Amino acid sequence: MDSIEAKKTLAKQGYHLVGSGAVKPCLWLNRSMRGGDQCYKHHFYGISSHRCVQMTPTLRCNHLCLHCWRPIDSVLPKEEPMEPAALLDGILHEQQRILSGYGGAKTTDKSRLKEALEPKHVAISLMGEPTIYPYLQELIDLISKRGMTSFLVSNGTNPEVLESIRPTQLYISLNAPDEGMYRRISQPSGSFWPKIQESLSILKNHNCRSVVRMTVARGLNMERPKDYARLLGSAEPDFVEVKAYMHLGRSRTRLDREAMPDHAEVLSFARALGNAMGYDLSMDVPLSRVALLSSGRICKSLDS
Ligand code: SF4
Repeated sequence: MDSIEAKKTLAKQGYHLVGSGAVKPCLWLNRSMRGGDQCYKHHFYGISSHRCVQMTPTLRCNHLCLHCWRPIDSVLPKEEPMEPAALLDGILHEQQRILSGYGGAKTTDKSRLKEALEPKHVAISLMGEPTIYPYLQELIDLISKRGMTSFLVSNGTNPEVLESIRPTQLYISLNAPDEGMYRRISQPSGSFWPKIQESLSILKNHNCRSVVRMTVARGLNMERPKDYARLLGSAEPDFVEVKAYMHLGRSRTRLDREAMPDHAEVLSFARALGNAMGYDLSMDVPLSRVALLSSGRICKSLDS
């Protein structure tokens, strides 16, 4: 498949490509625009799904995680990193185009549409590893200058970049309690385990709100909570999100449906991890099969 074919395939999957990056409306934006429920980030942190822009500055990743639902194993378009102002302009323009499709629909909640046209939040987490993009802090600065908050999700393989960036909330994904399991699950393109450990220790004294996100799959990595707790002891994140693997997208070719834990299993694992870390189980959202552990150091809502 060449670059043109790769672009066509991504477009069919709902990705709006902008230079080296992309924006894609998530299913929660769609539900929220119809007056329905919003994603767990709304319940946890007060983010409005219809005012959230889900984007990435790069499609590339140095992992190939078994649970990844994104088309990360496809041939990807060959694009040079786009300059951050042009990238953000392009992403926001595409978001407006996406929203314009709701204008004529009878099912649209008109007050939410009006709000959506002024986004308040950018989730840098759509696809790929954002620290590969060379102008990441400039992009975060521009997001902030335009009055929006930013969540950035990284796989932790570039500690030097993580140390220097200042999103509103910084996430590191952690999928395993040791290197052997990490290599099996994340299929990294290099020897990154020491880098991930370094990133976790950087989180401890980072100025941003900090979160470790764990995607847990039955029979794969939802075990040994005490070993995870030991590792997380070096990071002392403000929050830990424990989220079920969902049998969606490309991950269906790598994992069975049985790997998807139910909410009770997620809660049980999150409780065991919370006990081992001394964190409280502060909230959970059954529909998304996700639980939030809190250190109790800061308020979870961004509005407070
Ligand atoms: S690090 Fe994230 S984007 Fe990369 S393969 Fe893993 S889940 Fe997918």
